[in-house]
Amino acid sequence: MTSLRAIQADITQLNVDAIVNAANSSLLGGGGVDGAIHRAAGPELLEECRTLSGCPVGQARLTRGYRLPAQFVIHTVGPVWHGGTHGEAQLLASCYRESLSLVAAQQLASVAFPCISTGVYGYPPEQAVEVAIAAVQDFLRSPCSLREVIFCCYSAGDLALYQSCLAHF
Ligand code: ADP
Repeated sequence: MTSLRAIQADITQLNVDAIVNAANSSLLGGGGVDGAIHRAAGPELLEECRTLSGCPVGQARLTRGYRLPAQFVIHTVGPVWHGGTHGEAQLLASCYRESLSLVAAQQLASVAFPCISTGVYGYPPEQAVEVAIAAVQDFLRSPCSLREVIFCCYSAGDLALYQSCLAHF
């Protein structure tokens, strides 16, 4: 069984095998959680990201974690919210699925996700949380190395959303 839980924390501080970065498609750094991860990991992370030539929306790329407690960073590019009729939910679900595929391919046991797309990309958190939990649950229906998936919330409001949604799954 894989445990699925939500916590309120700074994702850069978490001692897990991999953390997921809500990156932009250049993978060359940005604000929000992306900026925090690059600051905490150090300049080597940006150097490795430069070798990747970007990442399309809904896909994911793996790098080392450098000065982070986490060994790896999975960079995924969430959709920008355009009202919900432009495939946003499918693309967001794909971010979770593709990230988990990379984690499973490395045989890792623990991973933490931020609330992808709910910052400057404008995805309504209530809807993003439902997509996130459903996508992770769906992935975990097949056996894999994962023992723990953490939804790492920056705000108390996001934590409350995850907790009430997890209670219904
Ligand atoms: P996006 O561009 O995908 O919307 P953002 O970085 O703007 O990405 O926001 C994504 C989420 O990450 C938001 O819920 C934001 O509050 C959260 N966040 C920002 N900094 C951190 C951090 N250090 N740890 C965890 N979550 C964070």
